[in-house]
Amino acid sequence: MSTERRAAVLSVGDELILGQIADTNARWILGALAEVGFLGIEHRTLPDDRAAIATAILEFARRVDAIVVTGGLGPTADDLTREALGDAAAPQAALELDPVAIDHLESFFTRRGRTMSPSNRKQALRPPGTAMLPNPNGTAMGIAARIGACAIFCLPGPPREMQPMFRASVVPALPTGAGAIATAAVHQLGLGESVAAERLGAMMDRDRSPTVGTTASGGVVTARIRAEGDRASASALVEETARQVERAWHPYAYGRDERTLVGAVASLLVESQRTLAVAESCTGGMLGSTIVDFPGASDFFVGGWIVYSNALKERLLGVPTAMLEAHGAVSEPVARALAQGAVERSGSDYGLAITGIAGPGGGSEGKPVGTVYVGLAQRDGGKSAARRFVITGDRHDVRERSARLALQMLRLELLGMAEVPLLWEAPPAGEKASTPATGRRA
Ligand code: ATP
Repeated sequence: MSTERRAAVLSVGDELILGQIADTNARWILGALAEVGFLGIEHRTLPDDRAAIATAILEFARRVDAIVVTGGLGPTADDLTREALGDAAAPQAALELDPVAIDHLESFFTRRGRTMSPSNRKQALRPPGTAMLPNPNGTAMGIAARIGACAIFCLPGPPREMQPMFRASVVPALPTGAGAIATAAVHQLGLGESVAAERLGAMMDRDRSPTVGTTASGGVVTARIRAEGDRASASALVEETARQVERAWHPYAYGRDERTLVGAVASLLVESQRTLAVAESCTGGMLGSTIVDFPGASDFFVGGWIVYSNALKERLLGVPTAMLEAHGAVSEPVARALAQGAVERSGSDYGLAITGIAGPGGGSEGKPVGTVYVGLAQRDGGKSAARRFVITGDRHDVRERSARLALQMLRLELLGMAEVPLLWEAPPAGEKASTPATGRRA
């Protein structure tokens, strides 16, 4: 029997409905609810419309154990969540001024040397029978209410205010008795989604527990694993399945949950006390930027070059003019020469280079848009290699996927598995195309 409790999330704001901002709160809240045993049964996005918000609160109050509402607690006329909550939880009653909220607002403005505007007083109002929830990071306090057996929590929209409030005030106040939902995500890059799913086989059966589903984004395929039950057994089940997924996706699986490909590469480089430099053409710094996104990049990353023109490829990294003329800038020898140049001129242990045609123009029959060569050179032994990919997607996708493939190539090299085929890999132009075992979709 399922032990979880049911929850709904309501995101409020015209800017969400109009597509002006992405609703990251819903995703975060649903994940945080799952951690404490609440299954999100529905997420609804609503405009700044008092009646629509009140109707949704009443509807879900009959169906779920907890409702979390975000947004619409600000001081302006279009912030209507408190009024809508009043319509649902205490119809016909006027909103009340909460003395603690008045103190909060006054001290919030005094501490910042500002005067409170009259409109902010609205933020101290709440329906009778409800309670304010502290907000240490903003003016909008939250409101906790109850309709029948359903607990309702209204939180402000800004994530940096909402998230600490959820942890501090919502989690302890959620109806108890819930079981746990344990989750884990395993990421891989190098197998297309369909091949990755095939390798999971029966693990993906819909009626199995834990459940396993895959999602694909930018070449990375993620298995999302979920189990319900008491906390210890749900976690153990998820752990066991995560290991099975990692085995099935070996050696492409590079990490779980928040782990990034750069993080995985970083651990291997730091462990072996090796350093990395990059030479980028079509990615224009994206590889370097992806690396520097990782805190602690300075432990292994020495820097790199953006060499977009042939002139800079020659002048800064010593790619021979004759090689550029004979093979073109997007070619295997040039990718290798760029990676070697990066190693030689930076003194790093490894060099990664990317040269390709990101599109939409510039493709030819032999080198279609999406053709990318990734070069990898090593100082020890002066070894270098380059691989050819034909990557699907628009200009941004090609650049982003190239940077990720380069990192996966380096990771596999560091693991001594440089030979395994990778997604989008294609034989050099002119050679007979074969379907790589890795498939093409992601
Ligand atoms: P405030 O007092 O800060 O205005 P509020 O509860 O009124 O709080 P909103 O005005 O609805 O919040 O939203 C303020 C900002 O919070 C938005 O401009 C947006 O940047 C962010 N935000 C709102 N809702 C979401 C959401 N669902 N996901 C991510 N960000 C959001």
